[in-house]
Amino acid sequence: MNANQEYSFFQSVERSFDKAAKFTKWDKGILEQIKACNSVYRMRFPIKRDNGTIEVIEAYRIQHSQHKSPCKGGIRFSDEVNQDEVMALAALMTYKCAIVNVPFGGGKGGIKINPKNYSTYELEKITRRYTAELVKKNFIGPGIDVPAPDYGTGEKEMAWIVDTYASLKPGEIDAAGCVTGKPVTQGGVRGRKEATGLGVFFGIREVCNMPAVMEKLGLTVGMTGKRVVVQGLGNVGYHSAKFFRESGAIIIALAEYEGAIFNPAGLNEEEVFQHRKKTGSILNFPGATNLAKTGDALELDCDILIPAALENVINSDNANQVKAKIVAEAANGPCTPDADDIFLQKGILCVPDMYLNAGGVTVSYFEWLKNLSHVRYGRMEKRFTENMNTKILHQIETLTGKEVEAGERRFIMHGADEQDLVHSGLEETMISATQEIMTVWLSNPEIPDMRTAAYVSAINKVATSYAELGIFP
Ligand code: NAD
Repeated sequence: MNANQEYSFFQSVERSFDKAAKFTKWDKGILEQIKACNSVYRMRFPIKRDNGTIEVIEAYRIQHSQHKSPCKGGIRFSDEVNQDEVMALAALMTYKCAIVNVPFGGGKGGIKINPKNYSTYELEKITRRYTAELVKKNFIGPGIDVPAPDYGTGEKEMAWIVDTYASLKPGEIDAAGCVTGKPVTQGGVRGRKEATGLGVFFGIREVCNMPAVMEKLGLTVGMTGKRVVVQGLGNVGYHSAKFFRESGAIIIALAEYEGAIFNPAGLNEEEVFQHRKKTGSILNFPGATNLAKTGDALELDCDILIPAALENVINSDNANQVKAKIVAEAANGPCTPDADDIFLQKGILCVPDMYLNAGGVTVSYFEWLKNLSHVRYGRMEKRFTENMNTKILHQIETLTGKEVEAGERRFIMHGADEQDLVHSGLEETMISATQEIMTVWLSNPEIPDMRTAAYVSAINKVATSYAELGIFP
């Protein structure tokens, strides 16, 4: 815990859980079981650095719940990794999967390293050794526990994991399903990379399309012209910014750990990303004003604030200065419980992480299904649909004597490919989850905020699942 944090991350999650549990009918024993972290694997292993020295690496894999199999959750590479953090993230995965109706238990992994301080070869050795440790203890497998990318990891690490797993489990036909977020050439699914950011967009778009909610916040319905601030230009932040901008919102500020930039006329995330790649900093972007601290961006006057970097960035110290109408939790745990209380007083709508950033795990679920079925989405029906659409169009043109314009023709004839189906499944998931949570919230005027409503929804689903398993007579 640092000076800014009132509670450890796991305590914050437990506190939110307890707040919501009061609105459910489950007895104490079941609630305690849902809250508990079932399995904690803390490991240490050595690696030889490129300079010949030996370093001992600290790492974790934590399975919060096994009410559904496999467990699911990303692997984080960060200096800040500790047991409490991984436990909290694993717990959030349990609730997240329940909310978006993805049939997995919750898990999470972490390796306490700053990947920027290691060569690619060293990172490969660490990732492969970590995977071997998980195999030894039966903590990984398509039916046991399926990791994915998180902060500091991506496709490359997932490719090393699947390769290590497959080589240690020769003949396992479903080996590709041992991890998700893989490159497409290694069994990944098209649409995974942008999934979390796209899910954030679908979730907030749904909220912004609810007239009663917008009226209460003093905002207009829809996305056009909404002023958006994004903290973190990594995978989630970059793609969130992209989809918001493409839908007509204005990205007025972007923040990275070295500072932030502000331009009320709007920023283009790709141009800023290229600028940062070239100069090593987000600052001094042409046409934008520099803000000295990343935290300054969180306090800008805007409609939607998207923290998409790390946890606990909005807390009792700065929540009072937040001027956004909607806080969209793209990162895991960016707002502390004290920040939640302040938002409630100020009438700020906080859309909670545990469902809003579920796009990654939703598409991971699609990837896992693809791996188990051994067939690419769309392979069976794409041509059939296109042939059928061509025939229907031809019939319509013959009967009406008119011709459809070329662009429209391509659109109508198009049969869904893998990316179309993945995006469509994600859109459906995020819309349904938003509506489900809103229904729970509206059904009980005592439920104070959307996070509590999301927890109530998750607790009911996980508890029902435990009850159906018959563990609790
Ligand atoms: P990432 O490593 O791709 O990007 C994180 C970015 O945040 C980096 O560019 C980093 O420089 C920046 N950053 C770090 N500290 C900062 C600070 N103090 N201020 C401003 N910027 C800072 O990670 P990611 O995958 O985009 O994950 C971001 C968050 O989203 C994490 O909380 C993660 O748990 C959560 N999340 C990720 C996924 C996913 O699919 N990747 C899914 C669900 C949730």
